[in-house]
Amino acid sequence: MNIIFLGPPGAGKGTQSKRLEERYGLVQISTGDMLRAEVARGSDVGNQAKSLMDSGRLVPDELIIAMLKSRIEQPDCAKGFILDGFPRTTGQAEALDTMLTADKKKIDVVLFLDVDEDILADRISGRFTCAKCGATYNEVSNPPKQEGVCDACGSHEFKRRADDKRETVVERLKEYRKLTAPILPFYEKTGRLHKINGMLSTAEVTAQIEAVMAGQ
Ligand code: AMP
Repeated sequence: MNIIFLGPPGAGKGTQSKRLEERYGLVQISTGDMLRAEVARGSDVGNQAKSLMDSGRLVPDELIIAMLKSRIEQPDCAKGFILDGFPRTTGQAEALDTMLTADKKKIDVVLFLDVDEDILADRISGRFTCAKCGATYNEVSNPPKQEGVCDACGSHEFKRRADDKRETVVERLKEYRKLTAPILPFYEKTGRLHKINGMLSTAEVTAQIEAVMAGQ
């Protein structure tokens, strides 16, 4: 089963796709995480992407499509994958369809996490992750049970994303509105788009997603 998570930055795509990965044994592919790893390695791709990411802009389609293509060709993706943060433009959605068709694969489900824009900036600026195990938290909606201690691994070290600053979030939301939101009709037309209310609790959002999955 191949799944796409769509939704604005801060909608909960990362959190929910990690849950789906564990529950259904699929591979989560976050293009944002892949790019951050390239930036950390100082690779050519990372160097090209860094300033765009820091300013909240999307990286060019050619670069991200090539990166995604080589990732989904890896053997672990044969059992099914969850795309988190891809596609983000109509060009990417079309390129994805072409590469999957060539491989006799398809997208089975598109989950759209719908969240009102006015609550996204607060959500994003409150989020942080454990520096050791990557567990995700939010100051308001999902703090660690004991302040300053990771629930999952007990670490005391946490980190925030450089592009989660308020100024950058405004730019990321603009890019979403202009380039990503227009791809929703592309998937709606095919009957594969499922709209999920992303403004409920994390557990309630997961329950809605599981109901969609149960119907597959
Ligand atoms: P994310 O972690 O998904 O929020 O992505 C962080 C940043 O990486 C975005 O603001 C973009 O600069 C870049 N990025 C991630 N995925 C894509 C994509 N599919 N297309 C273009 N840029 C992307």
